[in-house]
Amino acid sequence: MTEPTLFNTLGRKLEPFRPLVPGEARVYICGPTVYNEVHIGNLRTFLFGDLLRRSLRHLGYKVTQVMNLTDVDDKTILGAHKAGVSLAEYTEPFIRSFLRDLDTLHMERVEHFPRATEHIPEMIALIQTLIDKGHAYETDGSVFFKIASDPHYGCLSGFDLDQARRGERVASDDYGKEDVRDFGLWKAVKPGEPSWPSPWGPGRPGWHIECSAMSMKILGETFDVHCGGVDLIFPHHENEIAQSESATGKPFVRTWLHAEHLIVDGQKMSKSLGNQYTLADLLARGCSPRALRYLFLSVHYRQKLNFTFESLDGAAGALRRVDEMRFRLQHAEEQGEPDARLAEAGERLRHDFAAGLADDLNFALALAALFAYVKEVNVAVEEKRIGEGDRQRILDALKDVDQVLGVLDPADWPTGQAEDDAAEIEQLIADRNAARKNRDFATSDRIRDELTARGIVLEDTPQGTRWKRR
Ligand code: AMP
Ligand code: ZN
Repeated sequence: MTEPTLFNTLGRKLEPFRPLVPGEARVYICGPTVYNEVHIGNLRTFLFGDLLRRSLRHLGYKVTQVMNLTDVDDKTILGAHKAGVSLAEYTEPFIRSFLRDLDTLHMERVEHFPRATEHIPEMIALIQTLIDKGHAYETDGSVFFKIASDPHYGCLSGFDLDQARRGERVASDDYGKEDVRDFGLWKAVKPGEPSWPSPWGPGRPGWHIECSAMSMKILGETFDVHCGGVDLIFPHHENEIAQSESATGKPFVRTWLHAEHLIVDGQKMSKSLGNQYTLADLLARGCSPRALRYLFLSVHYRQKLNFTFESLDGAAGALRRVDEMRFRLQHAEEQGEPDARLAEAGERLRHDFAAGLADDLNFALALAALFAYVKEVNVAVEEKRIGEGDRQRILDALKDVDQVLGVLDPADWPTGQAEDDAAEIEQLIADRNAARKNRDFATSDRIRDELTARGIVLEDTPQGTRWKRR
């Protein structure tokens, strides 16, 4: 096991990662609010969660990860209301498209995807505990967290309560709070809204309490890592800490990790600028999800990721270097003893790749180790130093790092496969046409039969040969 160093937002410093139970990592990542299709910014943060998970596993930890689905909040309720359908009917297609996006980008399914609407009793119990301990109060069927009752409030974000008090007083909103900074734990039902029964009357949970209740139910009152995008530091995560620690009297989370935002062409994504892409938008433009995954993982999670179509081309180019090496290796002849220099390069890859991950998920270092290895293999092929068994050892080394990267093997990516296939088919057709021109009908028929066997139908037209899949 290699102990990584991670940048803890709580305290804002790099720290050795020491989970509660040695060798086990319990991780919670805030999931999507399922009121529309997620955009590529959301996906950047979720992909960070996937890389964290795979990296910790690579470094020797057993990972249990939770990602909630926020299927009740202001936005989902409003959406369902406008569409004239139930909350469940409204959110279901967005949950499905979200899971499909995860699959398209080869993100692993985490162990638990709890839905807020399925954990209302746990939320009510947590709110009741907060009331009993004097940290929350009820007014007109709504319940609020009393920020003044928590001396640690602001520990994550640096939010200064006294400063805020001295500042301009904002009119309290329609729920009748004692202090404008108090936040809602339970919201009394409004006409036409879905609601659940509670000791304070019918209503629904606030967003923050959802994550506290679901994370502690599944991972325990104290767990190792909680993560999300930087915009969640305040107020969402600050409020989660306040509620959870006030209720249990125990530390809630040991390490807080936050991923920086994705921007597009140097600008914040927004609907009005027309630069807010979903994964489906990019696929429709012919972008490769494999290149997108590579692009995402190549930028450190604490740096802004500037998405441009050129950067996506750059990512595809980097992958091509690995693909070309794989191709050359496939066609290289194995001869003689296993090559000592290659064995050394393999060891270096293993060591440097893990060291990169352990350095606060420094994928730039990990990828540098990979490309140094790719270069070594290319040189070995060139110099005909591929010895007995070396090919398999190289493929195994690639496979090992790809357990984390999830992007190196073109055969794992159906569209990439189809593209490769297409190039090969075009080549066979060109060969067939050349054979026909030379009146070598035996060869042209053989190629045609081979294509037929692969389900490719040829059609000879005056403009040339067209093909399609049967
Ligand atoms: P939401 O559904 O709005 O709660 O967002 C889901 C996740 O996406 C949260 O972790 C957010 O912090 C994150 N997120 C939102 N916008 C961006 C962005 N532009 N870039 C990266 N992550 C984002
Ligand atoms: Zn959350």
